[in-house]
Amino acid sequence: MTSPTKTSRPRPAQSADTSFFWEGAQRGELLIQHCTGCGALRHPPGPGCPTCGSLEWDTLEASGRGTVHSYAVHHYPPIPGFEYPNLVGLIDLDEGVRLISNIAGIGPRDVEIGMAVEVFFEDFDGLVLPQFRPVS
Ligand code: ZN
Repeated sequence: MTSPTKTSRPRPAQSADTSFFWEGAQRGELLIQHCTGCGALRHPPGPGCPTCGSLEWDTLEASGRGTVHSYAVHHYPPIPGFEYPNLVGLIDLDEGVRLISNIAGIGPRDVEIGMAVEVFFEDFDGLVLPQFRPVS
């Protein structure tokens, strides 16, 4: 007999252009796509550089430091695998790209635009995801 298991986080959709990001997260690395044609960094990842059109790229490991550009507090409808209130941040990384991630370790009433945050990695039933928390 199997015991009931709690619902885990939904698995992110992956493609040839995005799998490096999720595989890096599994190793505790926050990777950004880097154009080898012109040096531009971009996120979300894609096949071609919007700056120079090059299809050649590699990755750069971000420092994990940034600031809160904006945020939203998701209450409803509840999605299995998330805790509520679900604080979702738009994070400006120090490297100059912006990404969406959860903000943890702080309540929705205490988060502020411009707040300094840093990445940490959390394991959700084998799925390791980047999360951000205030810099202490
Ligand atoms: Zn480029």
